[in-house]
Amino acid sequence: MAWRDAMCGELRADDADRRVPLAGWVATRRDHGGLIFIDLRDHTGKTQLVINPERSTGAAKAAHEIRNEFVLQAVGEVVPRAPEAINPNLPTGQIEVQVDELRILSRSTPLPFQLDEEGVDETLRLRYRWLDMRTDRMQRNLRLNHTAIAAIRRVMDDLDFVDVWTPSMTRGTPEGARDFLVPVRLQPGRFFALAQSPQLFKQLCMVGGIDRYYQIATCWRDEDLRADRQFEFRQLDFEMAFVEREDVLAVMEACVAGAFEASGAEPPQRPFPRLSYADAMLRYGSDKPDLRFGMEIQDATEVTRGSEFSVFKNAPCVRYVVVPRTFSRAEQSRLEEVAKEWGAKGLANLSQISKFLSERELEELGVPEGSTALFVADEEPVVAHVLGLLRLHLARELDLIDGSLDVFHWVTDFPLFEVSEEYGGWTFMHHPFTAPVPGEEDGIETDPAHAHGQHYDLIWNGWELGSGSIRIHQAEVQQAVFRVMGMGDEEQRDKFGFLLEALEMGPPPHGGFAMGIDRFIALLAREPDIRQVTAFPKIASGNDPLTGAPTPYPDSALRELGIRLLDPQPE
Ligand code: ASP
Repeated sequence: MAWRDAMCGELRADDADRRVPLAGWVATRRDHGGLIFIDLRDHTGKTQLVINPERSTGAAKAAHEIRNEFVLQAVGEVVPRAPEAINPNLPTGQIEVQVDELRILSRSTPLPFQLDEEGVDETLRLRYRWLDMRTDRMQRNLRLNHTAIAAIRRVMDDLDFVDVWTPSMTRGTPEGARDFLVPVRLQPGRFFALAQSPQLFKQLCMVGGIDRYYQIATCWRDEDLRADRQFEFRQLDFEMAFVEREDVLAVMEACVAGAFEASGAEPPQRPFPRLSYADAMLRYGSDKPDLRFGMEIQDATEVTRGSEFSVFKNAPCVRYVVVPRTFSRAEQSRLEEVAKEWGAKGLANLSQISKFLSERELEELGVPEGSTALFVADEEPVVAHVLGLLRLHLARELDLIDGSLDVFHWVTDFPLFEVSEEYGGWTFMHHPFTAPVPGEEDGIETDPAHAHGQHYDLIWNGWELGSGSIRIHQAEVQQAVFRVMGMGDEEQRDKFGFLLEALEMGPPPHGGFAMGIDRFIALLAREPDIRQVTAFPKIASGNDPLTGAPTPYPDSALRELGIRLLDPQPE
């Protein structure tokens, strides 16, 4: 006999009289003195088993031993429930199974938490992930993960993309994070880096004539863990030859639509709106703005230039947001405190400073009655940063975000370079392989501050889903970009000689994109972080509570790799 003939969520009234084996986990057991009721569960749902000692003494004996999460096989007859016993909330609520044979296939020790318990500590859930996975939430999320990825693969296949596997162990790829290093026993003192992305390999595929490459690629980045970040994550990584930006964006939009449809959700309208980087920074103070609400940042630099209010008078930049309510003094000073934590010198409220402003200034600001205008004056990047965070903070606090909306949009036209916080020189904004805007190639070395890159980001409700760009396909331009970043000829050849050589051997023009799959699925599942859609994630400290990794290794193992640990630093 098969282990099971039906799934636990499958039986309906018209299955009455069928004799079926069922197998699954015990969700609940109720002893009604004589009759024992068991809800048997698998990922499809639950079926009520009835064990009547008059029908089978063997089954009744086994049923007495049963506890939650035991695994059973039950064989019995499907019977309609008495009208008063019908459970309209359960798809199988019309029937129950009168059990003749009951086998305990495996037992469970008392559980560290109940599956239907609310608010279980997350580390405990991860420590016992195999139990946590049995919850409706995790079953739904992991299956949604599969559905979305399968749909994306179908879209890529239909569009003639070729799945090419690229190495995880490679040279460091600059994506702006630290590398995870892998020591090599055969060559002590040398290390592979775990790929931060397949970036250069996919470009080499283009040079190699695979003109549409894709991969659901695992990437590794040594960064602090956050709601949307794990050490390792997957991205839909693709690259295309002979394309313009719009071709790349259209492919990504088709994948989003395919995944939405497959998961039963209404796909967002295509094409997704585009917003330039400059506009995003000006109006939302962020390069990944959440567009589900307004509260756009307004500029008052010109209006307040020469104002009597000394803070505004000579400030390089004055901007404000208008909030549709008023604040008490205490609320205002709390807001000012947070703004200061973000780097503002202060947060001015129009009502407190209006006496310093002229009629004309007030009129031009045009702040409606009952609203509050909050101002920051400083260097432009500080103003944008603080007001961007304030806009989000207030929207959350005041519940201005419509959680039912899904707003996808692109941010385009990024600067090619930015000043490195680490060493003060120029560094790449996306990665060093992003092409400058056509026509700007010659100016990148003389005026890097004004060079624009053909770089684009995809944003969903304020989460950056991924980035991409049209790439450099001329070795000279690539070298110029490296030089702006302070890399001399020797270092270029040492680190990227293979790329420069490939770019000298017939590279086609090309571009691509990578979307963080885990972020995408977390948002699709309406989860607050990617751990909820990842089977075995790590916690914020970087530990895996399930296996206990990372673990120390004995000196003998390290010696083989040519590694000696520094003495632990005294506390
Ligand atoms: N390699 C980039 C990243 O991982 C994506 C791309 O430019 O295609 O973010």
